[in-house]
Amino acid sequence: MTDTPSYGFDTLQIHAGARPDPVTGARQVPIYQTTAYVFRDAEHAAALFNLQEVGYIYSRLTNPTVAALQERIATLEGGVGGVCCSSGHAAQIMALFPLMQPGRNIVASSRLYGGTVTQFSQTIKRFGWSAKFVDFDDHDAVKAAIDDDTRAVFCEAIANPGGHITDLDAISAISDDAGIPLIVDNTSATPYLCRPIEHGATLVVHSTTKYLTGNGTVTGGCVVDSGKFDWAANDKFPSLSEPEPAYHGLKFAETFGPLAFTFHGIAIGLRDLGMTMNPQAAHYTLMGIETLSLRMDRHVENAMKIAKWLEDDPRTDYVTYAGLPSSPYSKLVPKICPRGAGALFTVAVKGGYEACVKLVDSLEIFSHVANLGDARSLIIHSASTTHRQLTAEQQEAAGAGPGIVRLSIGIEDADDLIADLDQALAKATA
Ligand SMILES: *Cc1c(COP(=O)(O)O)cnc(C)c1O
Repeated sequence: MTDTPSYGFDTLQIHAGARPDPVTGARQVPIYQTTAYVFRDAEHAAALFNLQEVGYIYSRLTNPTVAALQERIATLEGGVGGVCCSSGHAAQIMALFPLMQPGRNIVASSRLYGGTVTQFSQTIKRFGWSAKFVDFDDHDAVKAAIDDDTRAVFCEAIANPGGHITDLDAISAISDDAGIPLIVDNTSATPYLCRPIEHGATLVVHSTTKYLTGNGTVTGGCVVDSGKFDWAANDKFPSLSEPEPAYHGLKFAETFGPLAFTFHGIAIGLRDLGMTMNPQAAHYTLMGIETLSLRMDRHVENAMKIAKWLEDDPRTDYVTYAGLPSSPYSKLVPKICPRGAGALFTVAVKGGYEACVKLVDSLEIFSHVANLGDARSLIIHSASTTHRQLTAEQQEAAGAGPGIVRLSIGIEDADDLIADLDQALAKATA
């Protein structure tokens, strides 16, 4: 389908980016398991390499199965283009790459997926980039953290692990004032629950590993560009606005307009960093997205029932789900994620570390894994696993203290999940 802005989400999640195969008529998107594509003739090859004609050269850059997924995710997010990558973490580097240079920094929310905190606080330093972590509920602090070297503001729409919601309208007003892009990790919300571009985001990144694929089968990521940022409005983004030496002096913003970031991501990002999604992974994720809205509705419905039940249970101290009226973030739900606050939250269990470990070991339906956004319900005790290396203070600040477990509620029968939690809590707090 092309130019389909009037279709609803349920239609687009099945049809966007997909056309019957022109040769065979295959209705489902074929898995184009090929590395290279035959050029019509030498002139055609030269035109492709010059970006004068769009087509397929080599699967590190572009592949028709991956292209269908890119178009589908970009359409669902309301963006102009997308670049799929080998993982969510690859997507984050791909989002920053065109914007950054040695000595530049990003201002990032202190509430992020644990792996992102490590990537931003440690690994990007090897590129000469750095991150300043700020509480994104404190809008003055976000504004104050932006300096002349800041090239992006980064946050999650619904933040891991506590399900905190970011006021994207307020944050994008700040990044707009500073003339820099807002990048939103929309992994735990998905475009069904939240559309960051409508709240002023420039770029949206995804770990497609999670809800978009939805079955815990393949890792993947995607960067979606809103197409709305004027990269040439100031001198901060020379790789997009000035002649780019890595592509024989091409000026991406001038040549590709709203698609500048997307073309840069493919022609330079994937070409030189090589963090490419493979067509098998794209196939699994295309299959997953076909049922995204149905699954997210059930994830949210189950999360609401279970969060309420846990909050009322005397064996717990508190539950952080933003869908509960007790959450300080509940008032942001109608504005930021009107179809629900996702299915990820933490629970403080009476009895601390010992009780949490026993709870995790006693559950039968919930799996103890370092993942989220699966059709199956998942649990992790962060203090003994993902946040084990942190000090007690750092654990508390990250919302991962010793007495807290994180739940990712799946789409099983809510009554079965509650019964499982009930029997495990009985053992844990006996
Ligand atoms: C999992 C996750 C990532 C990283 O994605 P991978 O596919 O594991 O590389 C980034 N952000 C959030 C919110 C995640 O849940």
